[in-house]
Amino acid sequence: MRLLLAEDDALLGEGIRAGLAQAGFAVDWVKDGEQARHALDTEAYALMVLDLGLPRLSGEEVLRRLRAKNDPLPVLLLTARDTVADRVKGLDAGADDYLVKPFDLDELTARLRALLRRSGGRAAPAIVHGALRVDPAAHAVTLDGAPVDLAPKEFAILLHLLENAGRVQSREQLEQSLYGWGEEVESNAVEVHIHHLRKKLGAELIRTLRGVGYLIDKP
Ligand code: CA
Repeated sequence: MRLLLAEDDALLGEGIRAGLAQAGFAVDWVKDGEQARHALDTEAYALMVLDLGLPRLSGEEVLRRLRAKNDPLPVLLLTARDTVADRVKGLDAGADDYLVKPFDLDELTARLRALLRRSGGRAAPAIVHGALRVDPAAHAVTLDGAPVDLAPKEFAILLHLLENAGRVQSREQLEQSLYGWGEEVESNAVEVHIHHLRKKLGAELIRTLRGVGYLIDKP
């Protein structure tokens, strides 16, 4: 799950980046509003964590431009000031949620998972697909009720394919959802992860459309 983090505070930004990477997100971190705008124009993200007080272009302005393009990307705002006026301004500009600094990393990741659930149109926290059940919050997978042990990137690919069930995902799209900037992409990583997923979950779940990509059918 690829996420854009826009935060100019070096210490806080590194803390959030590391915490979210630990939670399984591929994090791109930018430190001003212009960089955030550019990243949004050139990359595909599942989520954004946006500091309100950014240099060059404010978080509010980044958000306004995003929504002016009708982009539904879920955005969680970070604000240093806990005033009603600031919160109203942020939500009016199109934020989906906000947190006031200082905040707990566990709360941030829980709120991000909730945003992902809502943007995926799911009310229940778990995804059920036939005998397969995936709980994104707990990073837990069961098949016919029996726990299945998945590596973090296998889990990320499975989640991405399930959230896009019925839509073919190219290898490039899967790589994008797995890796942040600066991370080395191993050339056949996606194929290897898919191979392991098939061994653990059965050969039929993930279909290969030769030359196009991979697909999990709608349940
Ligand atoms: Ca700031």
